[in-house]
Amino acid sequence: MCRNFELLYFLNLVKLWKDDIIKDMNTEIIKMDEGAIRKEDIQKAGELIKAGELVAFPTETVYGLGADALNKDASRKIYTAKGRPSDNPLIVHIAEISALEKIVTEVPEEARRLAEAFWPGPLTMCFYKKNIVPDETTGGLATVGVRMPNHPVALAFIKGAGGYIAAPSANTSGRPSPTLASHVYEDMNGRIPLILDGGAVGIGIESTIVDFTGDVISILRPGFITKEMIEEVVEQEVQIDPAVNGVSADSRPKAPGMKYRHYAPKAELAIVEGHSHKAVVEYMVTLCQKALEEGKRCGIMVTEEHFGAFREFEERKEFVLKNLGHEDDEASVARALYRVLRDFDEEQVDVIYSEGFVQDGVGQAVMNRLIRAAGHRILSVPEE
Ligand code: AMP
Ligand code: MG
Repeated sequence: MCRNFELLYFLNLVKLWKDDIIKDMNTEIIKMDEGAIRKEDIQKAGELIKAGELVAFPTETVYGLGADALNKDASRKIYTAKGRPSDNPLIVHIAEISALEKIVTEVPEEARRLAEAFWPGPLTMCFYKKNIVPDETTGGLATVGVRMPNHPVALAFIKGAGGYIAAPSANTSGRPSPTLASHVYEDMNGRIPLILDGGAVGIGIESTIVDFTGDVISILRPGFITKEMIEEVVEQEVQIDPAVNGVSADSRPKAPGMKYRHYAPKAELAIVEGHSHKAVVEYMVTLCQKALEEGKRCGIMVTEEHFGAFREFEERKEFVLKNLGHEDDEASVARALYRVLRDFDEEQVDVIYSEGFVQDGVGQAVMNRLIRAAGHRILSVPEE
């Protein structure tokens, strides 16, 4: 018993020492011009990666926190910097299709067709890994997720850094993913040596993940590349994994990472759903007024088309209103979502109400992130 206490005390000391060390670094930010990428910047980033260090970089989906995917100690550093549970796998980013064969055992014909159709692009595919990929990179899984991002800075960086970059999103575990270099700085300042700043990302939510290691092709995470787009290329029905929108009692997640709370703002977020936009907006006003009476500060996330109903409250500084994009353009909502969630953290609100979206096309991916950010709190407008 006594020995256990001694061990615990010792482990705690090691943890404190490590936390201190990882916050002790000077974090440089280099502005990258997509049209004129400087060789010396790519070289600098590449040298850091080859030395086993971490570099954050822009992609078309969200910012990534990169390490040499074939170096187990480098991959381990990602988990420490993010505070990420060690069983949550990383995605390996490549810049050339020939790199795929070197890290996975077999590429089915359907996957080849998807790569042809969507790479470089916001699509990750999971295969059985070769031994060259360490367990530290895949969170202990026998499979590896691979993606070729569609961003000139990302592609130049991956090539210059040896061709295999393990990267999750560059946020602290649990927080909304970074869509600006300043978001990465907020979370990683002092923890990593370099951020490549490529400006605002284009898509704003993480890649679609398609699994090729089961009996059927299945989607583990919805994204900008929709189920319909995938089915058209593979010419068969694909399944949406039952754990996609969180873990229900009867579903076991394919990747351990699917079980973790994600993308969450500090305030309590709830999604409001109802039979019409008008009913939803009116109920949001009621909920906010109630929160106000309870002395709480209230945030509202709605598309621009519904701003009108909240203007007077915003003008009286009663509610904090944020623009989620446009009602009939889910891609604009995807682009705004994480930035809005982070902006609310600055505003010190206590509760946030968001409108919901139809789970169709890109709306499926938007709702997947929103539902998890809300910790599954969905409020329905009460019937009259
Ligand atoms: P992030 O984009 O930050 O959430 O990090 C990568 C995510 O990709 C993980 O959380 C997993 O959901 C997913 N992923 C990566 N590799 C695999 C894999 N081998 N099998 C299933 N999912 C994976
Ligand atoms: Mg992430």
